[in-house]
Amino acid sequence: MATETLNIKVTKTKESKISQFDPNNISFGTVFTDHMLVADCINGEWQTPEIVPYGEIAYNPALASLHYGQSIFEGMKAFKNEADEVLMFRPLENFKRFNISAERMCMAQVPEEIFINGLEELLKIDAAWVPKGEENSLYLRPFMFASDVYLGVRPSQNYRFMIIMSPAGQYYATPPKVKVETEFIRSAEGGVGYAKCAGNYAASLYPAKLAAEQGYTQLLWTDAKEHKYFEESGTMNVMFVKEGKIVTPKVSTTILKGITRDTLLQLAQSMGIEIEERQVSVAEIIEGITAGTVSEVFGVGTAVVVSPFAAIGFEGTDYKLAEINENSVSNKLKKALNDIRTGKIADTFGWVWKV
Ligand SMILES: *Cc1c(COP(=O)(O)O)cnc(C)c1O
Repeated sequence: MATETLNIKVTKTKESKISQFDPNNISFGTVFTDHMLVADCINGEWQTPEIVPYGEIAYNPALASLHYGQSIFEGMKAFKNEADEVLMFRPLENFKRFNISAERMCMAQVPEEIFINGLEELLKIDAAWVPKGEENSLYLRPFMFASDVYLGVRPSQNYRFMIIMSPAGQYYATPPKVKVETEFIRSAEGGVGYAKCAGNYAASLYPAKLAAEQGYTQLLWTDAKEHKYFEESGTMNVMFVKEGKIVTPKVSTTILKGITRDTLLQLAQSMGIEIEERQVSVAEIIEGITAGTVSEVFGVGTAVVVSPFAAIGFEGTDYKLAEINENSVSNKLKKALNDIRTGKIADTFGWVWKV
């Protein structure tokens, strides 16, 4: 049956897969909810978005995005509070960043009513899929790709925007050992580092594979010019704790402007922790770890919230970091953010968005 809500055409599945979903045994990115959102932009005109049963999409082999990579995405999460209400976290920030990525990749801008209302309607329909529990969430993946059937290199005239959703569970990973990358780069000034475009992730796989062969789980990217300054870690922003202060690379066109990064910096300030956004050199951190002034290094992003590192590998030597405990800065920040995101403590920042 098809119904019209908020200018979204909804066709519900005849058979929900929810009974096959075990919230106590979630394997990230493999299970998808019953529905997905699809909206096409045809020659600059957005068509009525549709919510349809989750399923495959068929395309012509000359699909432009497959050949030239006009493809972008966002990563966000929805939570359920004690009252069973579904909450999103700062979704407007993801919406804005999506269109910043779209502009850089010369793609169509997505209207707010399609992105935000689309998320809301989809979450209402698949609310049963938002798992409860401390670190459980529903991972939301809005994405868009060029849908012209054309082999010439030019901006596509047609785009498809979609949202799919996948339950995410507890993140069990033990603190990773990360390698300071001094040969390959993730991004350079004038490039696309600040955009969440598909190609950035493809380009990072080979250096990450080489590092994995050397026993490192993750990379710490350095600047493209000199490999002297830290930029990011894998697909996370990076923070250091030096003499009790949080030190983090200042965002620029070579760094993706993480919403978790921004959130944690605001939270830290509200907790009375000093922050410094500036260039952070590899030498400063290696010396600091050796001298005992740098006590924590951690990645921050939607997927893990906070991921403390066990050691940093630089030019063949591993510099070990102390284990995280209750009083660690990263632990306090993670707890505060989780409590706000799940509605456990009052949100004085206006970050939580009730669906
Ligand atoms: C998505 C992403 C981040 C983290 O951004 P959040 O908004 O915090 O999830 C950081 N770096 C890269 C390269 C990313 O793709």
